[in-house]
Amino acid sequence: MDQRFRLSAIVPQGFTVERTSVCAEQITVWIRCDAHNIACPCCGTLSSRLQSRYWRRAADLPLAGRRVDLRIMVRRFRCDAVLCSRQIFAERFGDNVLAPLARRTARLDHIVHHLGLALGGRPAASFANRLMLPVSNDTLLRVVRRRARTPTDPLLIIGIDDFAWRRNHRYGTIVCDLERRRPVVLLPDREQATAEAWLKGHPSISIVARDRGGGYGEAVAKSLPHAMQVADRWHLMVNASRAFLDAVRKSMRDIRTVIGATTINPELLTCAERLQYEGYIRREETNASILALSASGMPIKRIAKQTGYARQTIRRVVRGERSDMFRPRQSALEPHLSWLDAQWADGCRNSAHLWRRLRSQGFQGSARVVAEWATRRRRAEQVNAGSLQRLPSARNIARLMTTGRDALSKADSIVITAIENRLPSLVQAREIIEGFHQMLRRKTAADLTPWIDKARSTLVASFANGVAKDEPAVRAAISSAWSNGQAEGQITKLKLVKRQMYGRAKLDLLQARLIGAI
Ligand SMILES: [Zn+2]
Repeated sequence: MDQRFRLSAIVPQGFTVERTSVCAEQITVWIRCDAHNIACPCCGTLSSRLQSRYWRRAADLPLAGRRVDLRIMVRRFRCDAVLCSRQIFAERFGDNVLAPLARRTARLDHIVHHLGLALGGRPAASFANRLMLPVSNDTLLRVVRRRARTPTDPLLIIGIDDFAWRRNHRYGTIVCDLERRRPVVLLPDREQATAEAWLKGHPSISIVARDRGGGYGEAVAKSLPHAMQVADRWHLMVNASRAFLDAVRKSMRDIRTVIGATTINPELLTCAERLQYEGYIRREETNASILALSASGMPIKRIAKQTGYARQTIRRVVRGERSDMFRPRQSALEPHLSWLDAQWADGCRNSAHLWRRLRSQGFQGSARVVAEWATRRRRAEQVNAGSLQRLPSARNIARLMTTGRDALSKADSIVITAIENRLPSLVQAREIIEGFHQMLRRKTAADLTPWIDKARSTLVASFANGVAKDEPAVRAAISSAWSNGQAEGQITKLKLVKRQMYGRAKLDLLQARLIGAI
């Protein structure tokens, strides 16, 4: 249906336009309410006895690229009810149109709120300016804060974790309501006292899921002694695997002896491999010099300054976690090696010829790969030394040792068998860690105490000691349905919002935006 445009269509419903004036940037609209009988806000009695009127100003949504300034006529009425304490009252327009004392209409306030949520203070203010919305930076922040939802339901089950304001620099704390799957509060740091103070104010909390380590465990114990603590399952899984990797690293020297590859003959390497080998030698030299500095008592910070290496690298070297070893590079020839060996033994030593025959078998590598292999074979025969050993890394050995035997290649399974036969302590460590994973998966909390007793005398003792220190929470992690995994998801969301704020994220605004944006 074709409808004639009425001026009253541009102002909130229930108002009539009296007149308008337009200038370059602004439209001023004078409006009034049409209702005859107005209810007294005190007693609800309808009144039509007009006392006086005055003009009130409010900003409204922009129109055709111009700001809109509303001038609203407000009438005062006399209340006739005998028992009413009010004699005179001003008419009201409803909170969804224009709240009492508001300087913006509700529909404009709504837009301002969402701009603030989406863009934060200053970026939102400059964008609002372009949209001809007359709001300042401060106003935006105020609206976002005022409208920030404060959850009223009692908190029962929460997850608590830290997040980085700036990595390795400044951290905050996020608390999530695990039942309703939403963040509840952001705390300005990750100090135990801060978490403690907040937790004390929420005695309804009965279950707290938290990461292992950090002060959260103690904070909960002090402020909510009745609450059950649940260690984070995912971190437990990761830490357990990590403990086994550390055990393998500690045993690397023995493993090298077992595999019998303590020396490498650079003569036997191809050109590319020699480059790798030189890099390896360089790394070993660096490690040695860092270790020497550290042994002389120099702090990591100074070593970093002196050598120019990252502090993290130095820390890893000092902890003995960066003892990598030289490995000739993986080759596409791997599956064809036995066939090549047989050809070589038969006297077919022309690499181009070998390559063509390989290609007809489906080999997709270049002729150079085969030529390099032939060169190495020739050199090996010339030097008449032991052939090159392929040394897997600690990480690879840890992975191979925890992979099912059926999934291993023949070469890998020979290596792993050798390690397993000669290093029973490593096999034991693997079984202990597998046992821990199984406990978590099968939820058999009763096995925890015997597990700790057994694990304490193995290569993963330090992990077991950590678990023992936190036993009730780990037990809860095994048996409880709640986990802190959700908090991790909320932290991802938080990082996104924080990044949008161009590093100007202030705590309360970040919180208002995170919680308001759901
Ligand atoms: Zn009244």
